[in-house]
Amino acid sequence: MIVYALHCACGHDFDQWFDNMADYDAKKDSGIPCPSCGGTEVAKAIMAPRVGKSQPAPAPAPACGPGGCGGGGYPMMM
Ligand SMILES: [Zn+2]
Repeated sequence: MIVYALHCACGHDFDQWFDNMADYDAKKDSGIPCPSCGGTEVAKAIMAPRVGKSQPAPAPAPACGPGGCGGGGYPMMM
């Protein structure tokens, strides 16, 4: 198993597990949905892949509306 940090077009970062690099390539071709907005325009973030066992839970990405995130701001900002 291998985990990649992925970055979607809306700016969400999330981690996704794959069996191996070929599995990532196959899933990328069919589209890897962002868990926050469902967009499939995701790219590997610049990060060394972690291989192995468990990992600490990633910080939850801020959810955006059903229309996607257009503002680029953070929800906690008033
Ligand atoms: Zn997203």
